[in-house]
Amino acid sequence: MSDIIGELLPPDRLMLTPGPSCVDPRVYRAMAAPIVGHMDPWFTAMMGEVQMLMRQVFRTQNRITFPISASGSGGIEAAVANPLESGDECIVCVNGAFSERMAIIAERLPAKVTRVEAPYGRTVDPQDVLRAGKGKKLKLVGLTHGETSSGIVQRVEDYRKVADELGALLVVDTVASLAGIPLDVERQRIDICFSGSQKAISAPPGMAPITVNEKVEAVMHARKEPVRSWYFDLTTAMNYWGKERLYHHTPPISLIYGMREALRLVVEEGLEARWERHAQNQQALVAGLEAMGLELFVKNPADRLVTVTAVNIPTGIDGAKVSRQLLDEFNIEIAGGLGPVKGKIWRIGLMGYSSQRANVLLFLAALEKCLLDQDFRLAGGVGVAAATHSYQQSTQPAVVGSRR
Ligand SMILES: *Cc1c(COP(=O)(O)O)cnc(C)c1O
Repeated sequence: MSDIIGELLPPDRLMLTPGPSCVDPRVYRAMAAPIVGHMDPWFTAMMGEVQMLMRQVFRTQNRITFPISASGSGGIEAAVANPLESGDECIVCVNGAFSERMAIIAERLPAKVTRVEAPYGRTVDPQDVLRAGKGKKLKLVGLTHGETSSGIVQRVEDYRKVADELGALLVVDTVASLAGIPLDVERQRIDICFSGSQKAISAPPGMAPITVNEKVEAVMHARKEPVRSWYFDLTTAMNYWGKERLYHHTPPISLIYGMREALRLVVEEGLEARWERHAQNQQALVAGLEAMGLELFVKNPADRLVTVTAVNIPTGIDGAKVSRQLLDEFNIEIAGGLGPVKGKIWRIGLMGYSSQRANVLLFLAALEKCLLDQDFRLAGGVGVAAATHSYQQSTQPAVVGSRR
């Protein structure tokens, strides 16, 4: 067999997708450490360190804070399945594929879900949420902080205010935003917050950090029926991640090593510095794209998600061909659109370890080449020049994390 199927040798891609992002070599090294048992006292002590780091990154003291053994979507599942019982009413703000996913998952519980919608590229109006919720006995309002499918960000404070008025819990999906843009679970009074390992945290995919406050713990204890999902029942999972460290399921040991190192990198850099780095790199990217004559999908600059930039594919350009050329000729992966914007936009992720100056400049140069090859009217070099100029205005160090 070894003659037929060779050793695994993946290409060394630059991932400028909306996840997974590139992984710092320190994280890879941590993941190569030997497996120990999940009940080993060394391991159960180390779990506490991961939880401490996670609380720092979420900015919370919540007791229930740990990584769920699942991708970001598992985070959505846990976040809605734990507070909601069958027939409970909730509102989900839907303005893209991931917020839509939250509504679908809640419907399957089954909860009574009211979707308050906005088109792709727009924020959901908090006043619409208020109007839709008036007179209802709502358990929660679900919000996607950074909607990756359209590159849009929503202000948590606005929805917190509305959820307060409606007497509802606020559930926030920060899969695409945690560790990339400002977030403070405690100060913003987010009741349930979850993320994913492979986006701005820059660990490999497969874990969903979650945190829930005491209000939610009380709701969970008052449940009349068991949580519909055995696997995602936070109360029993906390028997393992809590003081007792009782067996629940075998967690992905190596991923937890990787998560620990990735979180250490976040804390070492400092959240504010990290947010600033992400903001500056996107600013340079946007300056470059606009100088090249490209248009951003999200019109209002204040609504643009810093970690994912959506760009309209210009008329006359074969978007899929550009993506393919970026991969084949430059080893760069970007993403296309989902659902109603499929074939209409490119999505460029600058998350975690991927958010670096060298990557922005390389990407802009590569994109120029791909566009010129399709006879797009463009003066070669304008994108890189605009990005360079943008960097000259800033003081951030050029290289982050460890070198390869
Ligand atoms: C990526 C993403 C998800 C889904 O995460 P998976 O790891 O693919 O399951 C959910 N919500 C948002 C906002 C995302 O960006």
